[in-house]
Amino acid sequence: MQQATTTTVQQWEALHSSPRSPEVELEGRVALITGGASGIGEITARVFAHHGAKVVIADVNDSLGKSVRDSLGQDTVSYVHCDVTNESQIKAAVAEAVSAYGKLDIMFNNAGITDPNKVRIVDNDKADFERVLAVNVTGVFLGVKHAAQAMIPARRGCIINTASISSNIGGSASHAYTCAKHAVLGLTRNAAVELGQFGIRVNCLSPFGCATPLATKFVGLGPVEMEALIGATANLKGVTLKAEDVANAALFLASDEARYVSGHNLFIDGGVTVVNPSFHMFQYPPEE
Ligand code: NAD
Repeated sequence: MQQATTTTVQQWEALHSSPRSPEVELEGRVALITGGASGIGEITARVFAHHGAKVVIADVNDSLGKSVRDSLGQDTVSYVHCDVTNESQIKAAVAEAVSAYGKLDIMFNNAGITDPNKVRIVDNDKADFERVLAVNVTGVFLGVKHAAQAMIPARRGCIINTASISSNIGGSASHAYTCAKHAVLGLTRNAAVELGQFGIRVNCLSPFGCATPLATKFVGLGPVEMEALIGATANLKGVTLKAEDVANAALFLASDEARYVSGHNLFIDGGVTVVNPSFHMFQYPPEE
């Protein structure tokens, strides 16, 4: 299960040995990342820290979260145990960011789970449905609420929520997950409308599949096999979606480069959600 994350970390280290781009500076910014112990959240913590941010990782997986913190250094990164479905723990995580670093500039509501991959709705359990909505929707709602509480007095801030291609299309994930990610998009838009008056931007990210522990568990494949499956169904060929690609999109949204971007759903999907498979106009005949 950890193989995908380790592979991505190694790629991240190789790519980021070069100097960082000055356009996407996060120097002096403070970011809180839920689900920052693994997968997309972990790589985003690394990318944000690399670009100068102080980062608080909030997660339920204490051993992984602490090991990410220790690998980046405790001067730059803190870890707080936080179940995003628990309002007092989300409130405490925001308070930790403010007390450790003086403010909260960036809230990345990224923690998420899947339910067992049961195709037919008649086989789906209410308890699984409610568990997914609790983490993937209520958790994001609580994160937006308590980040807003800290950001409104400052009259600035950036909130990023992790949605999915399932925020826009049916048939790519379970019923619960698809409902949850549509709700994340709705919440993102509503919060962007309300919080714009305070200078707070709210956006979401919608990745296609990348081989994190969440995704490999859901499809029941190893990282290599999952990437092959995604590659076969992808619209954009010749490149494999990695957690770092999602982290770089989060970096863009968090930076001043995106200072007028709000209420946006940024797809990191190689165009797969705009394909209508009924039309074959651009399908080239096989080469001789
Ligand atoms: P992951 O399993 O690697 O990471 C998820 C993290 O969330 C883990 O560290 C886990 O401990 C944490 N978490 C789970 N429940 C929590 C809770 N109640 N409170 C706090 N933390 C909790 O998975 P990932 O793929 O990196 O997922 C991150 C986000 O990306 C999720 O919202 C997921 O739905 C979304 N996403 C993933 C993919 C993909 O293909 N990997 C695609 C689209 C969207």
